Amino acid sequence: MCGIVGYIGKRPAKDIILEGLRHLEYRGYDSSGIALLEDEKIEIIRATGKLASLYSKLLERKFDATLGIGHTRWATHGKPSEENAHPHRSGSIALVHNGIIENYLELKKMLVTKGYRFSSETDTEVIAHLIDYYYRENPLMDAVVKALSYIKGSYAVVLISEKEKNKLIAFRKDSPLVIGMGDGENFVASDIPALLSHTRRFIFLEDGDIAQITGEGVEIFNSYGEPVKREVKHINWNPVMAERAGYKHFMEKEIHEQPRAITDTIRGRISLERGEVYFEGIENIEDDIKKTKHIIFSACGTSWHASLLGKLFMERFAHIQ
Ligand code: GLU
Repeated sequence: MCGIVGYIGKRPAKDIILEGLRHLEYRGYDSSGIALLEDEKIEIIRATGKLASLYSKLLERKFDATLGIGHTRWATHGKPSEENAHPHRSGSIALVHNGIIENYLELKKMLVTKGYRFSSETDTEVIAHLIDYYYRENPLMDAVVKALSYIKGSYAVVLISEKEKNKLIAFRKDSPLVIGMGDGENFVASDIPALLSHTRRFIFLEDGDIAQITGEGVEIFNSYGEPVKREVKHINWNPVMAERAGYKHFMEKEIHEQPRAITDTIRGRISLERGEVYFEGIENIEDDIKKTKHIIFSACGTSWHASLLGKLFMERFAHIQ
């Protein structure tokens, strides 16, 4: 789980997005990227490693774009690389995604038969192509609704289109996304700290919500494309309180995050319906793993406690000492 930031307004989008991503660094990431609507065309810049690598790629360049999206990635499907970093593009749209698309292989096969070529190993790219597929014959919002009816998994997505230069589309299910309300400008991000220096007024998108965000306002629809109302909440937290998400201590926050952290870790790796576990990325070393006689866990602090539990499981279930 990592970070998303989107901006639409009158100010330079690049700086606002980069600053927002910096506030989301605590969520962890392995690569990052940004898409800006510059001179009516989407320009994408991506880099592996620290956010500083993206900064240095952007340093030399001056952008006038006032609409854009940014992303820090924590790879779940496909190695951390520039090709796999977000934003991903299809036709006239570009998007960023946090989460896991569980049925991406099935969707990928279908999209390949429709002539789509994949340029990354991510699950995310199917979202971009599927929306583009419907966008060819439908308005953007309808294309998103149609595409989402086929997508299974968790997602927080923000997208921009070269054909609709005055809006961001954002949607989510089982991954967080908040909208920050400004004055003649609006923001979207995975978490409040990314936007606190710009606004205190937030809309918390609910599961299945699809938001159409312009500089002037926000319209929200449910997954069938019907309008829904969401309250604008005023957040009084200072930046430190915001990082604790309203909890008194980080420890308390982390305790409450445990169910979600565990769900995020195993999501996409196990199918309860089929009773199967997927070991994507390590299938070809299965025989080596079977020959393993000893496993050493090396850790300190709370990771040491987690390792003690791991040791117990390895001994009890895999009979490895
Ligand atoms: N599943 C996507 C990927 O591997 C998104 C990961 C994320 O949440 O950053 O690229």
